[in-house]
Amino acid sequence: MGRLEGKTALVTAAGQGIGRASALAFAAEGARVIATDVNQASLESLKGEAPAIATRLLDVRDDGAVEAAAREIGAVGVLFNCAGFVHHGTILDCGDADWDFSFDLNVKSMYRMCRAFLPAMLEAGGGGIINMSSAASSIKGAPNRFVYGATKAAVIGLTKAIATDFIRRGIRCNAICPGTVQTPSLDDRIAARGDVETARAEFVARQPMGRLGTAGEIAALAVYLASDEAAFTTGAVHVVDGGWSL
Ligand code: NAD
Repeated sequence: MGRLEGKTALVTAAGQGIGRASALAFAAEGARVIATDVNQASLESLKGEAPAIATRLLDVRDDGAVEAAAREIGAVGVLFNCAGFVHHGTILDCGDADWDFSFDLNVKSMYRMCRAFLPAMLEAGGGGIINMSSAASSIKGAPNRFVYGATKAAVIGLTKAIATDFIRRGIRCNAICPGTVQTPSLDDRIAARGDVETARAEFVARQPMGRLGTAGEIAALAVYLASDEAAFTTGAVHVVDGGWSL
């Protein structure tokens, strides 16, 4: 019997990367999965790979769309807020629009999602929220991750606040902090640097194990946090970074 049998799990940014790997892993463990993303093509490809997964277009920056999704879907047992964006640069490269976009997509989206989905979760007796942070946050400073690191540190604060407020009402809320993980957007960041070989070697070199993480390695932690095995775990910051922050 799967570890998530009987649970409904909603995943944001499930079209590719860690969100997609997590949607697949949740489904493999018996969850009823609702995979959401802004990218219809990637959702269709996910559906092709795992037809049992329900897909739904959802822009986590859109208040109305988030509220409508919560109304229509009702209670979920697992809410995995995975959407996020990496802005490259220091404070001097980060204009107001960059700051606002990153905070909206990386942090306010989680406020929106949790605020919309929590009431039904509470009514149903509880559930688990998983928020995607990063080792580049309050855990570790990383070069050229100014606004990204600020947003991911905020995710940790948001996670602990929700965990604290609802700890007696059946809600667990945890953060995941990956190191560098092989995903399509990492490939995009490498391509954007021009010299692909050197850029990739630099990303690998910053990982002490000498390799990048896989999306499956992060999804395995998400499965654990979503499952009843993690029933005594809340408000915790789970670093899965191949020793990057050592
Ligand atoms: P990715 O960046 O490759 O994919 C991101 C997905 O988010 C895409 O499918 C995209 O369509 C979707 N998305 C973008 N804007 C959206 C919106 N407004 N609403 C809904 N979906 C939207 O995926 P990834 O690299 O696995 O990153 C996923 C999460 O993990 C992010 O929060 C990221 O910050 C975090 N993370 C990634 C790494 C890494 O090395 N890849 C490391 C630490 C943390």
